[in-house]
Amino acid sequence: MQVIEIIGASRASRVLVGDVYRELARHLPAGRVVVITDENLLRLYRQELPPVPVLSIGSGEGAKTLETVRGLYESMLELEVDRSVFIVGLGGGIVCDVAGFAAATFMRGLRFGLVATSLLAQVDAGVGGKNGVNLEGYKNLVGTFSQPEFVLCDPWFLRSLPENEVANGLAEIVKHALIADAGMFAFIEERAEQALALDPDVVARLVGDSVRIKAAVVGRDEREAGVRRILNFGHTLGHALEAAGGFSHGEAVSVGMVFAAAVSVRRGRLAPAARDRIVRLLERLRLPTAAEVDLERVAEALGKDKKRSGEAIHMVQLGGIGQAAVETVSIEEFRRFLSEEQAVLRPVGARPRR
Ligand code: NAD
Repeated sequence: MQVIEIIGASRASRVLVGDVYRELARHLPAGRVVVITDENLLRLYRQELPPVPVLSIGSGEGAKTLETVRGLYESMLELEVDRSVFIVGLGGGIVCDVAGFAAATFMRGLRFGLVATSLLAQVDAGVGGKNGVNLEGYKNLVGTFSQPEFVLCDPWFLRSLPENEVANGLAEIVKHALIADAGMFAFIEERAEQALALDPDVVARLVGDSVRIKAAVVGRDEREAGVRRILNFGHTLGHALEAAGGFSHGEAVSVGMVFAAAVSVRRGRLAPAARDRIVRLLERLRLPTAAEVDLERVAEALGKDKKRSGEAIHMVQLGGIGQAAVETVSIEEFRRFLSEEQAVLRPVGARPRR
C-alpha cells in the first residue's frame, strides 16, 4: 500500500493506493456514515458497500448539476443528517465532484472521504480538493476547494471499468509524467501494454506516481494561482476540442499534449526527438495524436474557456520530458499556433472562398 499525504489549506488529506477498499471501515470515524454513489456503481457493487444509507445519483456529465445536489440535500434532510455524519463518495470523477461539493456545502460542511473507482478519478479527479458541478454549459463553474479526509484508490475496482473510460485516465497519467517525471515516462514506455490492460501492479505504480506529482503541485498551490496551472498541460486545447464536440476527455487531452509539444518544438524549447517519443507512446496507448477539426469552432470554444484571464491564455509548454513551464500567450497568438500545427490539427469544414 502506498500512502501519500496532501497538505491542503482546509485540512490534510491522505491518499491510499493499493489493496485498500476492504479496509474502508478502518478509515471511517465512529458514528453515522452515508454513502453517495451513482446508478452504475450501485448496480455493480451493492453487495460490497458498507451497511449504511446509500444515496445514488444518475451517471454522466448531465448528472453533474445543482439539481442533483439539491436532490442529495433533500435526501440528507430526510435522513436527518447532521454535522456529525461522515459522507463517503464512491465512484468516478463525477461522483467525487458532486459528493465532495454536497458534503462541503451541506450545513456549511460535513466531513467526507472518497473511494475513487475510475482510473481518471484515481489519478486526477479524486485528488486535489476541487469539487463542483456544471452550470449553463460551463464545466465545473460552481464548486469549492475542500480536501477529503481520505481518498482510496484500489485497482480492484478497475476490472469493471468500461474500456472506453480507460483512455481518460491514461492520458492524465502520461500528462503527469510529461510535466514532472522523466523516469515515470520511461516506465510507461517499458510497460505500455500492461498499463493498457490495467495490470494491477503497473496501475498501482502509475496511480501512486500520478498522485504524488499532483499532490506536490497542489501542496504548493491549492487554489491554482500559479504552479498548479502546469496540471493543465494539454488541457487548453483539450477542453476546446471536447467542447467543440466529438472527443472524449482523454482523446482531447492526448491531442492537446501533442499540440503543446509541437508548439514547444517550434519555439525551440523541446527537441523534435522528444516530441516523437511522446507521439509514439500515446499511439501505443491507443490515444489519438492528431485530429481533424473545425478550427473556427475550436477557437470559439477557446474564447469561452473560464481559465483564460482577459485576452491572455496560460499555456503549458515543455522544456523536455518531465519539465513544464507555464507561458502566457494572447488569444491571437494561440489562434496562430492552431493554424501553424496542421500536422496535429487538420482543418475540416473550411468554407469555400467566394
Ligand atoms: P465518471 O464519473 O462519469 O465515470 C465514468 C463512467 O464509468 C460512469 O458511467 C461511471 O458510472 C462508470 N464507472 C466509474 N467507475 C467504475 C467502475 N469501477 N466500474 C464500472 N463503471 C465505473 O467520469 P470520470 O472520467 O471518472 O470523471 C470525469 C469527471 O471528473 C468530469 O466531470 C471532470 O470534470 C471531473 N474531474 C474533476 C477533477 C477535479 O480536480 N475535481 C479533475 C479531473 C476531472
